[in-house]
Amino acid sequence: MIGIYGGTFDPVHFGHLRPAVDVYTELGLSEIRFIPAGIPAHREQPVASKAQRCQMLLLATENIAGMSVDDREINRDGPSYMIDTIRSLQSDFPDEKFCLIVGMDAFIGFESWREWQAIVGLINIVITYRPNFDIDSITESELKKYIRGAETKNKDEFLTGSFGHCYFCPVTQLDISATRIRELARQGSKLNFLLPDAVVDYLQQERIYQQEKIYG
Ligand code: ATP
Repeated sequence: MIGIYGGTFDPVHFGHLRPAVDVYTELGLSEIRFIPAGIPAHREQPVASKAQRCQMLLLATENIAGMSVDDREINRDGPSYMIDTIRSLQSDFPDEKFCLIVGMDAFIGFESWREWQAIVGLINIVITYRPNFDIDSITESELKKYIRGAETKNKDEFLTGSFGHCYFCPVTQLDISATRIRELARQGSKLNFLLPDAVVDYLQQERIYQQEKIYG
């Protein structure tokens, strides 16, 4: 099963990378594909350009077994909807099974994603815990109903059963966000140990986030 890890990655940091490694290991996935959003559909627009966010992901994942970067969303016109990405992956890899990996904060807002009920019908979902975000903040809703019907704690059922399951995966808790990293960069503070050194060097070289500027 291939894990799909979508996000803005503005920039990628250890709060993305370590949980991805944890999910990869816990579920024995064949691969995790990081898919940077071209034009994020559900949030404010990124500061770094599409090419820069993609390059940072490449620097962060090179030489890490099982991790790859998929540029289909940045090469697609219009807002990056996950439902389109899933359909495109399934058409490119008809014999593969996929699971979508989402942090708790993203999952809490999942009902606002385009065709979210189609998404959960097409693939499995892995939800990773994130500091300061609590599953109990999801009030009684269609999403809560989905969780009740779809949750499994059985990895075999998740990996080999029919689609539509969700799995809450314990991952290393790192209170790191891209927002905080951008703030630190703006202030000229050190970024080490929040994201890979190669990405820190790239941010300095390209002078990204040193002044807020929306790149094309
Ligand atoms: P920003 O601060 O700009 O909103 P972010 O740090 O939340 O960015 P995103 O690129 O928006 O990062 O997140 C992509 C995915 O990674 C989402 O599913 C999100 O829940 C997850 N994620 C981000 N940071 C963490 C973290 N520290 N721990 C667990 N999951 C995380």
